[in-house]
Amino acid sequence: MLIFKTQQDLEQELKKHSGKVIGFVPTMGALHDGHISLIKKSKQTAEITVCSVFVNPTQFNDKSDFEKYPVTIHEDIALLESVNCDILFLPSVQAMYPGGMELKTKYQLGFLENILEGEFRPGHFQGVCQVVDNLLQMVMPDYLIMGAKDYQQCMVIQKLLQSKQEFSKIKLVISPIVREGSGLAKSSRNKRLSENDLTKATAIFKALHFVKDNLRKGNIHSLLQQATEQLLGAGFEKIDYVAIADANSFELINNWNEKQNAVILIAAFLNGVRLIDNIVVTE
Ligand code: AMP
Repeated sequence: MLIFKTQQDLEQELKKHSGKVIGFVPTMGALHDGHISLIKKSKQTAEITVCSVFVNPTQFNDKSDFEKYPVTIHEDIALLESVNCDILFLPSVQAMYPGGMELKTKYQLGFLENILEGEFRPGHFQGVCQVVDNLLQMVMPDYLIMGAKDYQQCMVIQKLLQSKQEFSKIKLVISPIVREGSGLAKSSRNKRLSENDLTKATAIFKALHFVKDNLRKGNIHSLLQQATEQLLGAGFEKIDYVAIADANSFELINNWNEKQNAVILIAAFLNGVRLIDNIVVTE
């Protein structure tokens, strides 16, 4: 695997592969099987796979979350090599934002920015778009591979791709959530949890299934309330949301009509660690 730390070096290498199908997997590192599933998907889909590892400061609304974000670059490199990733882009903040981190123009994300992750993490999606926009300009992939674990992020990135002519040929591939045997979604932030908390954290998966199994036509408010109480009972100290959105439009649902494909989403804090997860309900 080739490793590049600057835009110039990355672009010089990519020029050699002009005409080949490029798959791109952006990450923040502390890699696990979820990330690796994206690399494998890219290897199946594209001729050259590029992965980036960059903990993007501009998408953290919480300074301490940024400071505590796990960094395991030696393990990350070994994992990427084990699945034959072709290129790793590993920029510094300076290399990623040579003109400074300030956002030049605001991305127009509509209601996606004001609900759920957008509501509870102000500015988060602007930072996500800023870094993905920069990375896409550098890599110009044919396929951008992202995880369904960050469902709303996938909707936001789809909007970014549609909003820029230069990205019109990039196809977004959304890959399924990889979980532990316990059902807990794999996440870099799980590295901050104790063994005991990892067991408690499975309450998210259980709550998602509780909502899915008990979802009936009509108002869903009390069902979501029950799931919230289950999470609090399991030891989560703060629940940002338990919600249901239309799986295609991402509009929030108050009354489910049975025919709508829906996605159930949870964000909650366990011992100061914010975890998110979701499951899709199809007809
Ligand atoms: P992150 O490093 O958390 O920014 O994630 C990088 C990419 O990996 C994003 O597209 C995530 O949605 C995806 N990802 C993270 N966790 C998982 C998982 N458990 N299963 C599948 N994809 C994941």
